[in-house]
Amino acid sequence: MDQPQSHIVVLGAGHASGSVVAFLRQYGTAAPITLIGDETALPYQRPPLSKAWLKGETTEAKLLLRPEKFYADQNITLRLGARAARIDRPNRTLLLEDGEKLNYSHLILATGARPRRLPAVDSLDGILHLRTMQDAERIRAALQAGGTLVVVGGGYIGLEVAATARLAGMNVVVIERENRLLARVASEPFGSFIEDSFRRKGVQIELGCTIETFVSEGGRVRAVQLSDGRRIDCDAVLIGIGAVPNDELMRESGLVCGDGVSVDHSARTSDEAIFAIGDCTFRPLPLYDTSGRLESVPNAVEQAKQAASAICQRALPKPEVPWFWSDQFDLRIQIAGLRIGVTESIIRGDPASSSFAVFHLDEDATVRAVEAVNAPTEFMAGKQFINQGKRVVREKLSNAAMSLQDIAA
Ligand code: FAD
Repeated sequence: MDQPQSHIVVLGAGHASGSVVAFLRQYGTAAPITLIGDETALPYQRPPLSKAWLKGETTEAKLLLRPEKFYADQNITLRLGARAARIDRPNRTLLLEDGEKLNYSHLILATGARPRRLPAVDSLDGILHLRTMQDAERIRAALQAGGTLVVVGGGYIGLEVAATARLAGMNVVVIERENRLLARVASEPFGSFIEDSFRRKGVQIELGCTIETFVSEGGRVRAVQLSDGRRIDCDAVLIGIGAVPNDELMRESGLVCGDGVSVDHSARTSDEAIFAIGDCTFRPLPLYDTSGRLESVPNAVEQAKQAASAICQRALPKPEVPWFWSDQFDLRIQIAGLRIGVTESIIRGDPASSSFAVFHLDEDATVRAVEAVNAPTEFMAGKQFINQGKRVVREKLSNAAMSLQDIAA
């Protein structure tokens, strides 16, 4: 299978690349593999950074996808703390910032995404973002009981940090531009439930307003001035307003891009020797007959399997249902599918009990997405229904006393 001069170069040492190198070996390639990443840590899991890690409940070693020995045993060369500067596609070469050139037979781009920034605030102390272990260290150091944290952005990462900071005894204020939390990523009933839960835990939520200015003193943020004129004094500000794909190298080298670098069902870009996986990709979503960019661990792993299968000339894996999880206070949130083509939402269970699910159906009553809170059975069933394109009887679905096995249309 391997050409004599095969060399698989994987760029970005994160969740997707840490997964793809393991699949490549599992699927049988003996070609040399080089893994390059600008962080100095071995590939690690980011989800705990806003959860267990921030609470001090896990260690760096437990974050790692695999121990260092794995890479040595599998003959995978690591180049950590190294940044790629350019892709020379005609010569199939990746150029690093330190001047090194790496020839590749296959290049896998897994450069992830970075937090979206607000202009002109980066230079202030106390303004925080969250993507890396170093970012999480800075946030952990800023969690001081009795202090005030302003969280800009009511999305998943902002809310997870808000919950952890509140549990650490901070006053927490969430500022959200839209009129509800999780506006971009969750349904209205689901967002309202989260909002109520956060308010009950003492988190102040300010909807429909933005930051006018950051007030600083001695180079450190001291307050935020809101668009409605109010001022909120604070000790730190977490900016959680979404992420942008790290796709500059791809654009500069002329690869076709959308919101991220465009790939097909096998994670191949518009250059047949180049694959891309994870948060940096604009990918087909076959179950929804559209394309989009997903930011989740299951997506990174699914595309890692696709790329490894294509390179090892194996059959492509079946498309998976996109899914995601989040932990906020005592809420275990699990979401499957996408709310595309949805005409109706049905609540199963009682939100007042903090255990329920919102099922989203299209006009044929086919399940397209499910949002579950402390309801793993509903989540698992919903995910399976989406995969099977299952149609349900609305009245049966909303009746929590009726078994999920008996709700098919
Ligand atoms: P990354 O893991 O970001 O890896 C990309 C790597 O490439 C980075 O190390 C980056 O520095 C490096 N890189 C970029 N450009 C270059 C270059 N030019 N040269 C060298 N290296 C480069 N997902 C879930 O499913 N559930 C969750 O609960 C969840 N929680 C999350 C909480 C936090 C705080 C964050 C930040 C993310 C969370 N996610 C969660 C999302 C999940 O972690 C990402 O989807 C996943 O990490 C994507 O993997 P990736 O390999 O595409 O990108």
